[in-house]
Amino acid sequence: MHRYQLFIDNDWHDPASNEWFETEDPFTGEAWAEIPRANAADVDRAVKSAKAALDGPWGTMSATDRGMLLYRLGQLIDENAATLAEVEARDNGKLLSEVSGQVRYVAKYFYYYAGLADKIQGAVIPIDKPKVFNYTKYEPMGVVASITPWNSSLLLTAWKMAPALCGGNTFVSKPSEFTSASMFELAKLVAKAGIPPGVFNVITGFAADAGEPLIRHPDVARVAFTGGDQGGRAVARIAAENLKRVSLELGGKSPNIVFDDADLDQAVNGVITGIFSAGGQTCMAGSRLLLQDGIHDAFVAKLLEITKRAKAGDPRAPGVQVGPVATKPQFDKVMHYIDVAKGEGARCIAGGRALTGPDYGAGRIVEPTIFVDVTNDMRIAQEEVFGPVLAVLRFKDEEDAVRIGNDIRFGLAAGVWTRSLKRTMYMADKLKAGTVWINNYRSTSFTTPFGGFKDSGLGREGGVEAVKEYLEVKSVWISSDLQMPDPFIRKY
Ligand code: NAD
Repeated sequence: MHRYQLFIDNDWHDPASNEWFETEDPFTGEAWAEIPRANAADVDRAVKSAKAALDGPWGTMSATDRGMLLYRLGQLIDENAATLAEVEARDNGKLLSEVSGQVRYVAKYFYYYAGLADKIQGAVIPIDKPKVFNYTKYEPMGVVASITPWNSSLLLTAWKMAPALCGGNTFVSKPSEFTSASMFELAKLVAKAGIPPGVFNVITGFAADAGEPLIRHPDVARVAFTGGDQGGRAVARIAAENLKRVSLELGGKSPNIVFDDADLDQAVNGVITGIFSAGGQTCMAGSRLLLQDGIHDAFVAKLLEITKRAKAGDPRAPGVQVGPVATKPQFDKVMHYIDVAKGEGARCIAGGRALTGPDYGAGRIVEPTIFVDVTNDMRIAQEEVFGPVLAVLRFKDEEDAVRIGNDIRFGLAAGVWTRSLKRTMYMADKLKAGTVWINNYRSTSFTTPFGGFKDSGLGREGGVEAVKEYLEVKSVWISSDLQMPDPFIRKY
């Protein structure tokens, strides 16, 4: 079994605890690697290294050269995409075909932010006072702590790392205890790219041993978290106690809304993409399907036909469309919600069980599950399952769709399927969500911001906005007045 070491200062270290824990393949249920169990002493070492790098070659490097190193890292990710994808898929159980595409897309985040590094410009600001020249400049915040969940380790880390490094910060990554291995594979490439020691460090382990000391560390300036909203609240509390800048990408229960004028075949594919790709283990899952009354039955019939054809099995096997749930606790949570939905009176018309047998590994594949007759007050309509479970609701008209769509504490994303421009504009304006997709679903890009309204989080990742989230803006005043005015009376 492969034994990993912590990555600090571009070097490999045993953890201070001298303890490792096993990581398993969700399909086979078998352990395949040992992950170092970091504690506060390792965190301190990693943060000190990251702080020293700010004062070292990284801190004095030109933004252009920084960008070139990020570009080189992107190339190495591209060149090593097969290994990165194989390792990550082995840990999180997602379809190898999906993770392979995702890893190649990770490289693009580094290309984009590589190009942006020397285009972060302040402004010369016309000031309402005579004889004063004022300008703004952007400066790195310092050491960034990244804490990520198990569903898309590399992608969600890249969403933080690429803009943070672009802005001249340094970085300590604490991936999920369930999916740490790919972060070490990325670390190998960071060193190979020639990025100086201390700029990127990897600490692995559990929330209490490694995550909390990282957020509390006095030399960490900025915390970037993706995960569940309970974890997010805990992280925000600790960050607040220490007045640290924090961003949170949390969960969702996003409405995918189909109007009667939509191209129903396209919409069905979009709905399936929204809930069953990645096994529903995505923050942006379109887990609430809102169907206009007139098309409800026809649409459900189409949805059922495609869902029932889905091929489940080994996520590495070609042609497989449905793989296992990534972790045992998450599998139990999904099964629990299926029971909750049945108990609430929702009608299960597909799935609703785990698949067992020789083709289904350790038995952690949940059949794509659809509940109809759901009302928006049910738990299955309000709480995030984070699995392949779709709740189908009905609506009458635009106002009803907006009312139901927004009647939830989350606000990460929403999908709308219509041919009408009026409906498009109306829904895009009224839905309270950080992303609204019209006639598509689950699209993201390095060029545009992503993040949540309401309980879905704070801050944005992606696009130019994301760099600013890792920068302090400084306002500089230069006086050309040869006389200082009366120092006792301030003039406005
Ligand atoms: P989680 O919140 O349990 O854990 C996420 C990470 O935070 C892990 O690395 C964990 O060790 C760490 N952590 C948890 N509590 C902590 C604490 N008190 N202090 C420091 N670190 C702590 O989430 P999870 O179960 O790994 O992931 C699933 C959740 O993530 C879902 O709710 C999902 O919606 C959310 N998610 C959101 C996005 C997004 O972009 N909005 C993306 C993916 C996943």
